[in-house]
Amino acid sequence: MNGTCILCGNKSEIIAEYGFMITQCPACGRWIMSDRGFNILSLEQKDKCKSYLFYHKREKGDYFIGEENKYKDYISSIKSITDTKHLSLDTINAWYPKTFVDKVDLILLKLAELSNFDGDLVNYANFGDNLFFIKSIKSSNIKEGYDIKVQYRYIINFLSKNKFCSFVDSGFLQLLPDAYEKIYELQKNQSNNKNVFVSMAFNPDTKDTREAIRQGIISAGYSPEFIDEIIHNHQIIPEMLRLIGESKFLILEITEPNFGAYYEAGYAAGLGKEIIVCCKELVFNQKDFSCPNLKEIKEDSQEDIEKNGCKIYAKAMRPHFDIAQKQILVWSDYDDLTKKLTEWIKYLFPTP
Ligand SMILES: [Zn+2]
Repeated sequence: MNGTCILCGNKSEIIAEYGFMITQCPACGRWIMSDRGFNILSLEQKDKCKSYLFYHKREKGDYFIGEENKYKDYISSIKSITDTKHLSLDTINAWYPKTFVDKVDLILLKLAELSNFDGDLVNYANFGDNLFFIKSIKSSNIKEGYDIKVQYRYIINFLSKNKFCSFVDSGFLQLLPDAYEKIYELQKNQSNNKNVFVSMAFNPDTKDTREAIRQGIISAGYSPEFIDEIIHNHQIIPEMLRLIGESKFLILEITEPNFGAYYEAGYAAGLGKEIIVCCKELVFNQKDFSCPNLKEIKEDSQEDIEKNGCKIYAKAMRPHFDIAQKQILVWSDYDDLTKKLTEWIKYLFPTP
């Protein structure tokens, strides 16, 4: 069925099946959403989605936008849907560039990817809205389409004035030498990027977990970074934050909770990095995190203090499973952890 991509407005092939809309859009690629999801998505979220999909286009397979757990069985029962990658709004929001400068960096990197040779003419007519992060808003009392025109003019002026692009014909642009120089710098920062930052509690008890994670990362073609092996002075927080910023993604092991690890993961999430959360099955299924000392209290005067301490203990020992509604890699033993981690990484980040 011919229709319109509700994210970017391009003419698209649309299949409606069992309460799902499958859209094959020239700019956004193939993406799926439940009918309900269509209705509750705000204009702002649609704008973010259209850019995310365009910037993360897959060779084959599709994206499913929305709550994964709810529809997992449904989706696997629909034959025309294969190799679906789930996309949560959190992931999209986390990736979405925060500043104009961030947007320009992404635009230039994408244009380099779309240019087959120096001076290649890129026809952006079909995906300009996605590429330039154009918001589909309309101020009141203003002619339809005017706000969009203003946004285009702004970014085109910026790219022209900085000698990053020349806009040859309408709908065509060309990267200029100054852009290539900037792109080279940006790529240099990205490409050494086989590093995976591991956040966990480091102590003699977690040594085997650490080694299992190390092996899992290496087998997937990446390079693990354990902060205590890189920086021996843990006070150097800026250095740690820099390492997280330069890493491709982060692994958070929560079997033994550690406040520092959650902090690191939160920082990574803020930068739009993906996080793989791991937890040992025993702990994952554990119901009771109460303090073992609680039973031994005898003296009345001590009791209240101890009870308070025990409450804090119970809170501290319970891993936070609700981290950004992430799926959690639950492992049974060290071999299982290594094996699953390699599989997950290869699936989420196929090319190191
Ligand atoms: Zn689209």
